[in-house]
Amino acid sequence: MKKQEEFAGMKLDPRLMSAVSDLGFTKPTPVQSAAVAPAVAGRDVLGCAATGSGKTAAFVLPILQRLLGRGRGATRALVMVPTRELAAQVEEHARELAAHTDITVAAIFGGVAMGPQVNAFKRGVDIMVATPGRLLDHLGRAHGGLEALEVLVLDEADRMLDMGFLPEIRKIMAYLPKRPRQTFFFSATMPHAIVKLAGEMLRDPARVDVERRQAPAATVAQALYPVPQRAKVALLLELLRRRTVGNAIVFTRTKHRANRVAQKLERGGVSVARIHGNRSQKQRTEALAGFKAGRYQVLVATDILARGIDVEALEHVVNFDVPVTPDDYIHRVGRTGRAEATGDAYTFAAPEEQELIQAIERKVGKPIERRRLDDFNYSNGTEEPLELPLQERLARVRAERAEARRRSEARAERQANGAGPGANGSRGRGGSRGGKARGGGPRRRRYLKGAPAPE
Ligand code: AMP
Repeated sequence: MKKQEEFAGMKLDPRLMSAVSDLGFTKPTPVQSAAVAPAVAGRDVLGCAATGSGKTAAFVLPILQRLLGRGRGATRALVMVPTRELAAQVEEHARELAAHTDITVAAIFGGVAMGPQVNAFKRGVDIMVATPGRLLDHLGRAHGGLEALEVLVLDEADRMLDMGFLPEIRKIMAYLPKRPRQTFFFSATMPHAIVKLAGEMLRDPARVDVERRQAPAATVAQALYPVPQRAKVALLLELLRRRTVGNAIVFTRTKHRANRVAQKLERGGVSVARIHGNRSQKQRTEALAGFKAGRYQVLVATDILARGIDVEALEHVVNFDVPVTPDDYIHRVGRTGRAEATGDAYTFAAPEEQELIQAIERKVGKPIERRRLDDFNYSNGTEEPLELPLQERLARVRAERAEARRRSEARAERQANGAGPGANGSRGRGGSRGGKARGGGPRRRRYLKGAPAPE
């Protein structure tokens, strides 16, 4: 297929061309060059492209082109994405691209009120961007029909499968119309399960393989700061103080560490927001919006944010903890240096994280430059530990015991019920530790409280 080098050759409606020009896109990215033309011609597309490649516009522009000039009042395009943040981001990008049209877009995701989303269904918003769980909640109800759907997009399909969304995706498919429709399927990687799912969903797709980035964009300067674990916060504060790090997303390994790092930065006078799985949707949205708007200098995040989130003009990514897999490293570092922009990615590596660094360097194919901050006292180990492993361990042991107790009580209850009611209602007081057979009575659910939430 002839490579489409310019937007002008893509036969897009002038209203879409105006939006592209408003956004300052002068040249299509490779995935756009390869995908837009066959998509506008009505073909299915199977795209192997990572975040940062411009894939959103690659599927949104053909969708808009298709929807323009048709009757309104029914949802015609559905984009499924793995995370709430990505849903909000795709929605925003779709709105920007639809700015000169009357096409409407809504995001459907959990953690926020159902009401406005129910209305989006009822008024038949043109394009819906949804995460699987909340979408299913709607589809199971009277208002949740998508009978007029023409275009389906599965975005970051590999991430969806990683997150265990395959059953939801299959259930959603069962709600969608069976008649011919156009499907776009995007995935950063193509493992067997993805190829299989794509085979089920697509018909004679145009294959778009944008070479998978084995390394972050060339515009990203990467550096490694070897530093003892206990001096990491001090190092970060110092880099911020010296303006070596400007605005930055700081990634930590766990939610707990994200909270602690944010707290310590705040105490150090840095304006900081946090985003991780234990924060409410409102808090997550506020944190991201505040960071994008420049209200916060630093956004501390766990991996939830590592994929798909696009923050314009991001100067720095700081891996406060070394990412556990090389792919995570590439994704995290990919938050900066998007498209034409430049950015820096700094990784703080404690001696015990050396092995992870080696794996990352093998993957990116070259050593990462080591840096040392002059006049910084690396042995200044005054930091209190960021984690309380002992307490965590105790909590886990308590939760496991409670679970064992609950099981044993449930078993005893079943046995007692099987043997007929034999109790007199006086049971159920505290101290049933051994879980002896005691029929009936309220379950002691309270034992389960305090079980550590998954990261
Ligand atoms: P995506 O991979 O869709 O998340 O897009 C990554 C970033 O690239 C977003 O900030 C887009 O606004 C930007 N972008 C998309 N297409 C282009 C283009 N043709 N030229 C410059 N930037 C683009």
